[in-house]
Amino acid sequence: MNARYEAVIGVECHVELKTKTKMFCGCVNAFGGEPNTKICPVCLGMPGALPVPNAQAIELIIAAGLAFGAEIPAFSKFDRKNYFYPDMPKDYQISQYDMPLAIGGTVKYWLEDGTMRECRLTRIHLEEDTGKSTHAGSGDGRIAGSSYSLVDFNRAGVPLMECVSEPELRSGAEAVAYLESLRRTLLALGVSDVKMEEGSLRCDANVSIRPAGSAELGTKTEIKNMNSFRSVERAIESERARQIEILSNGGRIVQETRGWDEVNGVTHSMRSKEEAHDYRYFPEPDLVPLEPSRAAVERLRAALPVLPAQRFERYTSQLGIGSKQATQLVETPSLGAYFDRVVACSNNAQQASNFVLGDLSRLANETGVAVAESAVSAEHLAELIGLVDAKRINSKIAKELLARMWDGAGSPAAIVEREGLAQTTDPGAIAAFVEEVLSAHPSVVAEFKAGKSNVMGFLVGQVMKASRGKADPALVNELVRTKLSS
Ligand SMILES: [Zn+2]
Repeated sequence: MNARYEAVIGVECHVELKTKTKMFCGCVNAFGGEPNTKICPVCLGMPGALPVPNAQAIELIIAAGLAFGAEIPAFSKFDRKNYFYPDMPKDYQISQYDMPLAIGGTVKYWLEDGTMRECRLTRIHLEEDTGKSTHAGSGDGRIAGSSYSLVDFNRAGVPLMECVSEPELRSGAEAVAYLESLRRTLLALGVSDVKMEEGSLRCDANVSIRPAGSAELGTKTEIKNMNSFRSVERAIESERARQIEILSNGGRIVQETRGWDEVNGVTHSMRSKEEAHDYRYFPEPDLVPLEPSRAAVERLRAALPVLPAQRFERYTSQLGIGSKQATQLVETPSLGAYFDRVVACSNNAQQASNFVLGDLSRLANETGVAVAESAVSAEHLAELIGLVDAKRINSKIAKELLARMWDGAGSPAAIVEREGLAQTTDPGAIAAFVEEVLSAHPSVVAEFKAGKSNVMGFLVGQVMKASRGKADPALVNELVRTKLSS
């Protein structure tokens, strides 16, 4: 990309909160279902219906704010954002304008190579989601009957968190890394499912270009309609290239909203700033202001779980785990917590990571049971690691034991004891197996002596088999080699 310019990117996210009920009524908050079955007079905006705020939603927003180190003001309020839109039956949305629940804060994120970065947040506020319209038919909508729109109000009134970042991101890759970190954190907090494919996480990006090193901001465009993290990255890079080309040719960027076209890989103009709405915000007269007590805020702060970014930093800097493995370990909060317990008991982080992300994750995928919920307790896995570390069993036996532990076999040390699976490290015993195998395969030995060194693997395999898999493989290798060259 052109080094004379740098991109200035800010991301705005909408996240549906995982509450039992909607924001201002008792309707169930759940994805999907038959259209218009989770509705009531309040979320349908019937005249005279009054909103009652959902305490759980307010707590989730405050918890998210605290997790990112935001300030939780002593006073906050709801405002009406007025606009006419078919999927907004009240003709206004209850949102927060000048006094949000959380101000500032920082999202710590990391790039693929493990480099830690930070992006400050402007604010986090609470609002209600709109309904959902589906446009069908083939016409342009101007001729009756040629096309039509359907509206489903199940989503209307679902609690929605809006999280706005400062324009501190510099590339599509940084924006995605920021979003990944935001998503993992909200998941760990239990704030949301954060599933882009189900619409519980939606995001827009503001992109502008300026001469590299300049402190001034260029004219920005807002990109919408990005349906995956991959499209966020592609859309930002495409928009960055488009703006640089215009500026390089002496042109001018128009402030506007642009839609991302996934198929053609380009952004296109949706509406210019001149058409921008004036929402005529005013304080919501049906709701009293929010004054979260300090005690309640501190209680929420004390209840915060270990955050994925904290885990990642600890794994990479203190435990020496590679960036890729550490990212996989913090992906699911329960997996990270499980890994922490295994490390605490085994004191061998690398081996714990190998087992958790290797054999255990494979078994989890095959059976559909999460590692943390499996029959393999962290203590038993640590015991298995201890047996390998002490060379009591070899890796082949460890793998077999793990599969049996997954099926509920319990303590690996007990199985080893009971079934005599301990590794044979006695050179005398192994030498006897070697002797036996070499005299049983004189032709193979002859081949080796004739220079075919690759038959060595076969002989080692035969010795392992003769020891019923229990011989120390390193010792077997060494003894077979010595014997053959004597
Ligand atoms: Zn309702």
